Amino acid sequence: MGIKGADKGERKLSFVNKLYFPEIFKGMAFSGSHMFRKQVTISYPEQRPVLGPEFRGRPVLVKELGQERCVACGLCARACPPLAISMQASETEDPKERFPETFEINMLRCIYCGFCEDVCPEEAIVMSSEYDYNFKTREEAVYGKDKLLIDVAQLKPRLDFLAAKRNPDFGDTHDYDPKNNNHSVRDRKRLNA
Ligand code: SF4
Ligand code: SF4
Repeated sequence: MGIKGADKGERKLSFVNKLYFPEIFKGMAFSGSHMFRKQVTISYPEQRPVLGPEFRGRPVLVKELGQERCVACGLCARACPPLAISMQASETEDPKERFPETFEINMLRCIYCGFCEDVCPEEAIVMSSEYDYNFKTREEAVYGKDKLLIDVAQLKPRLDFLAAKRNPDFGDTHDYDPKNNNHSVRDRKRLNA
């Protein structure tokens, strides 16, 4: 004798349903049909995925002409939602005038949102394609300039991607006179071109 009301709303099974074999064969047929489809998984880490420039991996600093593009304006730190970025600005005799004496990103906090990249006026911080890295302690997760600075040549696909996605109307309304902006590595390079 069953519990009173326990079968309320339950599906009534026919004799064939109660055998369960039809459902088992249906399931096996479904799994079997997938064996002949195009494989979409890879054997990571032996096989590495080919990621396009649209992928947002760990944020890095652009190194150009032997130094960082960053002018330590602090915008990225302001825009970073989890407060992962910190820096100490310093002055230099260089026409660039300012540079980050220290620049740190806490990779335990970073959520790969890309806001830092969006707001940077110098294209000095970009999202790289690097995604597999690890650390054993909290201290190790704080990346300094030694780990953040990457040569501009290695970041070209992402920089080209950003340039292609830039709003073409932006320049008409907000572009500046390059002659007034020779403070950064990028602008000096452009003026000397
Ligand atoms: S990607 Fe987002 S969370 Fe990570 S450092 Fe940049 S602004 Fe902060
Ligand atoms: S990375 Fe860009 S936004 Fe951040 S401090 Fe440097 S110049 Fe400013």
